Amino acid sequence: MSDKPLMCPTCATHIDAPHGLSALVSKIQRAHVRCHKCGRTTHPKDAHIMSTSYQHWFGQFRLQLEAAVGYLPHLELNPAVEVLKPKHFDDDVHHMHTFRELLDYTSEVFRPVFRDRALGYDDAELTISPLNREGSNVAMGLRLYGHCGHNHEQDAWTLLITRYGPRGFMTYLTTGHSKHPLPESATKSVSLDGKPMHVWSMKDHKPPVPAATH
Ligand SMILES: [Zn+2]
Repeated sequence: MSDKPLMCPTCATHIDAPHGLSALVSKIQRAHVRCHKCGRTTHPKDAHIMSTSYQHWFGQFRLQLEAAVGYLPHLELNPAVEVLKPKHFDDDVHHMHTFRELLDYTSEVFRPVFRDRALGYDDAELTISPLNREGSNVAMGLRLYGHCGHNHEQDAWTLLITRYGPRGFMTYLTTGHSKHPLPESATKSVSLDGKPMHVWSMKDHKPPVPAATH
């Protein structure tokens, strides 16, 4: 089991598999593995199922995000800020230089949502919808909205994304529950060259078998 990826079911942090002598001791004692972040111990089998389930959900999201940003125009600074409309130009606005950076950031923001989905809470939700130019159906950015499941739906995040500069992105994060996660206009969006752009929802995907235990 020690060569398989492991993940903590509590905080969704990767756990380094025991190696060398500690791997041998772990095997003999059938010991649990400990998360270095939250300190919880887990059986390696459960930690492996958690890792597999998490990667299933994150993989679906990654493919969709990559496809969705392909629809967006590259904006200069002022138009990008106009799309995001941040209340304060503070720490919640970020410039990402590459798609990889954007992906790493979104995976941190929505980690609790992927964790809950991996644990089988199917009320946890994440959507990717177009962010239209005001008064038109032309998509200028993306709106990612996610909330946790299992009676923690109030844990919610909205992340707005625009393409900024030749390869980069600009993002604006707000936390808290949104009563209107999907504006009506988001369902009628097109790219600059007229390709229709659809809303994506994690609820449209089937869970892996088996789901992680909780
Ligand atoms: Zn943990």
